[in-house]
Amino acid sequence: MERAYQMSKTMSPGNQIGMYDQHSMALAEAVPQIVWTANPDGLLDYYNQHWVDYTGMSIEETLGWGWGPVLHPDDLQRCIDIWTDAYTTGHSYEIEYRFKRASDGSYRWHLGRALPVRDLDGKIIKWIGTCTDIEEQKQAVAQVEEKVRERTAELAAVNESLLIEIEQRKLLAQTQYRDSIRLNEIITTQCQLTEAKLDLKAFLELVVYRVDALTGASGSVVEIVDGDEMVYRAGSGVAHAHVGLRLKRDNSLSGLCVSTREVLQCVDSETDERVDRAACQRIGVRSMLVTPLFHEGSTVGVLKAMSSRPYAFGGTDMQTLQLMAGLVGSALAHQTAFNAKENLLTELNAAVSEIKANELRTKTIIESAHDAFVASSAEGRITDWNRQAEDMFGWTREEALGQKLEQLIMPQRYRDAHLAGMAHFRLCGEGTILNKRIELHGLRKNGQEFPVEFTISVIRSASEVELCAFLHDITDRKLAEERLLNMAQIDELTELPNRRLFNDRLAAAMARAQRTNKLMSLVYLDIDHFKKINDSLGHGVGDALLREFAFRLKASVRLVDTVARVGGDEFVVILEQLREPADSKSIIDKIIENIRQEIEIDGHRLHITTSLGGAFYSDKNLSPDELMALADEALYKAKQSGRDRDCWALQ
Ligand code: GH3
Ligand code: MG
Repeated sequence: MERAYQMSKTMSPGNQIGMYDQHSMALAEAVPQIVWTANPDGLLDYYNQHWVDYTGMSIEETLGWGWGPVLHPDDLQRCIDIWTDAYTTGHSYEIEYRFKRASDGSYRWHLGRALPVRDLDGKIIKWIGTCTDIEEQKQAVAQVEEKVRERTAELAAVNESLLIEIEQRKLLAQTQYRDSIRLNEIITTQCQLTEAKLDLKAFLELVVYRVDALTGASGSVVEIVDGDEMVYRAGSGVAHAHVGLRLKRDNSLSGLCVSTREVLQCVDSETDERVDRAACQRIGVRSMLVTPLFHEGSTVGVLKAMSSRPYAFGGTDMQTLQLMAGLVGSALAHQTAFNAKENLLTELNAAVSEIKANELRTKTIIESAHDAFVASSAEGRITDWNRQAEDMFGWTREEALGQKLEQLIMPQRYRDAHLAGMAHFRLCGEGTILNKRIELHGLRKNGQEFPVEFTISVIRSASEVELCAFLHDITDRKLAEERLLNMAQIDELTELPNRRLFNDRLAAAMARAQRTNKLMSLVYLDIDHFKKINDSLGHGVGDALLREFAFRLKASVRLVDTVARVGGDEFVVILEQLREPADSKSIIDKIIENIRQEIEIDGHRLHITTSLGGAFYSDKNLSPDELMALADEALYKAKQSGRDRDCWALQ
């Protein structure tokens, strides 16, 4: 902003000294700067003493344009131009320039200021200027500026290294991102391997396509060794059309890879002597990366990535290819294991089917069996119960399952023995009744007992032990057996015990007599002249007579006594628990009397008699045969003595 001192019009310009009054001069001399004045034409007309002291120039020398010699040569023209412009235009100014200090001859920076002084009409009547030594400030500023420069340079250097680091980190992040994608791809590929059903061909195709995607290859191939050839098993890109191709192992990079078991790289097929240049040219391949495929320790093939560019593959690609090759090796192993597993599975399925069929067959057999099927745990709780068991015992399957055997189907008398047997079985896995045909009595729901036959088998599985039995109700058979036994022991015609049963009864009676010391006798009887009946009236009448004879005989004795038919018309009677021999006599008399009574058969009135031979069992040393012999002997005597009587053995 232009400023001007308003001066009195009375002051005339062009004063030699330049100051208008003593007061101003004193002030100009008092300030520590150089003060000067100039007329409107730019001629300096006043300098204070400080100028003289500083520059070593006299006032006279300097007035007008005399100040030039103390200015730094570099600043002179600039100062002349600015000063000329100022007094010509009337503009104040500020300027920095260097003055030579007389005391040491050094140029020092000064701040020069000039202001026009105007009268009341605004006309310039004077110029007033000051020069202030600002060398120290300048130097201070220069130092600061230098420091700032240095610091700025430092910061710039730091900034640059930061930028470099940021760039490097960016690159690293990008690499890591690419690596993570690559690893992700590899892991995804590996996941395919773990799928239960592995299609090796599809997996190999997946691998070659992934290799292309991850390495930027123009094509990849899985080659498998087959004798002295390599077979393309899967291919992508430029190799896709060549799947199935067979190449000689010799003189090929793949063959070399198989034999050296190392990752091989061909950076340029045009210069690499290990490769078939012509073949590479045909498919447009300039560089290759080949890695071996291992299976169970041996090299079974290679995984190869190819590119149409030379030097196409780097260290990361090599790593990728090796990882992928590892996966292919696993896939081959997986396939082998898978095949084995498949076979095993097939066998297992067959076995399971067979077991199921067996189970079904067993179930059908059990259900359709005529016998009851009962299974139990080692603790004796019922675990299986078929329809026949329901019929046999009267309990439904639902009622029976889980129940204790002894409480459900066993008569009370067997229970203790059964529990002891089960405890023994649980302890040592054995049992006296196992795997044997057993006949016992079963218990029905209604409390009825019945004879049952069974064999208990033990079925042991990995987790449990089961006791199984088919139970057969032998009520009918027992009755039949009884009938058979009767037939063997009972005389069919008279329904009296036959000789066999009689022998048993005699032995038993003799034992009883011996034990109780009671009297007993044995009486042998034979019908007199029976033949005549047969001969005259026929066998039918004879048979009827024999039945009637037996009946009368039975009716003549007591309940404790035994009557048996031991021959054609021969009978025996065992008289037990006799108090005295006379008891025997009265019974015999009764027999004789009853037989003598008329018998009517088919209109024939018959009169028969019988002869009897008796023997007492007084000598307890006698055997049954000896006792029989005594009675027989007595009978003989009775016959001899005229029949129709009894004779007794002499004892
Ligand atoms: P004796 O007084 O000496 O005893 O004369 P006997 O005619 O009775 O002669 P013996 O006792 O020796 O003959 C028994 C006869 O009984 C012989 C045989 O033909 C007959 N006989 C044997 N078993 C049967 C039978 O089951 N039914 C019939 N009808 N006759 C039988
Ligand atoms: Mg006779």
